[in-house]
Amino acid sequence: MTQDLSALPPGSMIGILGGGQLGRMLSLAASKLGMRTHIYCPDPNSPAFEVTPHKTVAAYDDEAALAAFADAVDVITYEFENVPAATAEFLAARKPLRPGANALAVSQDRLAEKGFLASKNIPVAPHRAVETLAELEAAIDALGLPAVLKTTRLGYDGKGQRVLRDRADAAAAFAELEPKPLVLEAFVPFDKEISVVVARNVSGEVRAFDAAENVHRHHILFTSTVPADIPPGVEKHAAMLAKVIVVALDYVGVLGVEFFVIPGDRPSLMVNEIAPRVHNSGHWTEAVCLTDQFEQHIRAVLGWPLGDPARMADVVMENLVGDEVLIVPGQLDGNTQPHLYGKTEIRPARKMGHVNRIVRRV
Ligand code: AMP
Repeated sequence: MTQDLSALPPGSMIGILGGGQLGRMLSLAASKLGMRTHIYCPDPNSPAFEVTPHKTVAAYDDEAALAAFADAVDVITYEFENVPAATAEFLAARKPLRPGANALAVSQDRLAEKGFLASKNIPVAPHRAVETLAELEAAIDALGLPAVLKTTRLGYDGKGQRVLRDRADAAAAFAELEPKPLVLEAFVPFDKEISVVVARNVSGEVRAFDAAENVHRHHILFTSTVPADIPPGVEKHAAMLAKVIVVALDYVGVLGVEFFVIPGDRPSLMVNEIAPRVHNSGHWTEAVCLTDQFEQHIRAVLGWPLGDPARMADVVMENLVGDEVLIVPGQLDGNTQPHLYGKTEIRPARKMGHVNRIVRRV
């Protein structure tokens, strides 16, 4: 590991692509370190715009706006994985883009992602690429049913996927899912879903937070509970796999890795997906870690040493979706840390905030 001589000093300007709650929380963490942030987002109502005076409202393919943004910042990061490849390339030619464009390319496409993971001997669900209905039929022959048919790109919160239970489901699901191509995954008989948020900095230092056990409701993350109820060996293995991924990608920043835990005498792990950004299942770190995932990401992209991710309490993070945000402040107690995103319009299924409930100090 080499000493990084190019650490950016306090007062530097960090460019953030994307103005949602993750961009907002990154901006707040950067402010705490004496940094300034410039948010780039096409949506004029972005919640991240509330926390910094520096913003660009423009499309991701507006080259004049992108060039001015690159000129105004010292380093560029992002809060979502669907940054168009051309945008990433355009910006990376002008200022350091961290994480790099390769992390976007791999995580934007489920097939590329699974191919990359498998090439590093990291277990993923058996799967087949599907471009035609005939290929879907052949994939069902190979993988059996039930199986999960997914778009390879632009899926999130369960959008862009259908569970196929019998062959009669195949044609309709194939017709409905866009954009093509698709991927058919064998149905994984998991009993839990966990995730690990891991960080790597410019010098190659790697630190992982403890694993979180995640429960979804209507395909949206509902709770992350830490510690996860899994054997210590499984948790260590998950952290090891997450570290292999960031090293293999020569990654700089925080990355979320979602795993299925498959029951057995020795439970095994499969990676479901990776996200090249701070992750909803890492919000608990705000309440109980000396360095939370947002500060860790900012430190990494600045070329700073990473902070200690050690956990000081057992905790449950609960997302506040739609009008659940209205329970705050009524149901707060001294053990509950609220974080609301400042979104002016409440919509069903919209993530409005989260709370971290301290269960027990450790
Ligand atoms: P994804 O968008 O890939 O994260 O999938 C959303 C959710 O669907 C996951 O968190 C799982 O609960 C479920 N799921 C996705 N893929 C599979 C699979 N191959 N087998 C079983 N369940 C799955």
